[in-house]
Amino acid sequence: MKGVPILEGRYSNILDMFPVECKEFNRIYTFYNNLKEGRFTTTKCKGCGKVSYPPRVICPECYSEKLEWIDLPTRGKVVTIAEKWRGIPICFTPPLIDAWIEFPDGSPVKHVLSRLINCEVGQVKEGDEVQLAVFDVPSHPMDKGKESIMVDRVFFAFEPVK
Ligand SMILES: [Zn+2]
Repeated sequence: MKGVPILEGRYSNILDMFPVECKEFNRIYTFYNNLKEGRFTTTKCKGCGKVSYPPRVICPECYSEKLEWIDLPTRGKVVTIAEKWRGIPICFTPPLIDAWIEFPDGSPVKHVLSRLINCEVGQVKEGDEVQLAVFDVPSHPMDKGKESIMVDRVFFAFEPVK
């Protein structure tokens, strides 16, 4: 993992703050595959129509497992911001900026909480428009047969609209 000298480039799952995203270990792997295509998606129940965010594997309303993937907006407006200077995970450089983001009317999900990236402290204000930003995170090892392979993965945040 980058930025942790004692590990000398070795992988540490204890210091890994990102989910294992591959199909073999994660039932919402479709969410990450869609991110790789620039799509921000979540699940909708085919039985009762309940839309959940974050995505689910079981409907929290009717417990159906018949869910479909739907697209969410990739742009929204900042409602409020929090800058975190302390108590943040190792490997991250403070501050971490989190935003409560509101999607336009008609969106199946009204708000999301997300990290903001590609901006300085104080740059983004309430009411500013932000957009989805998908970025690579360090690969993780996975056993496949007798071999250990490295699995690529991504994560998301939002960034100011340029
Ligand atoms: Zn349901």
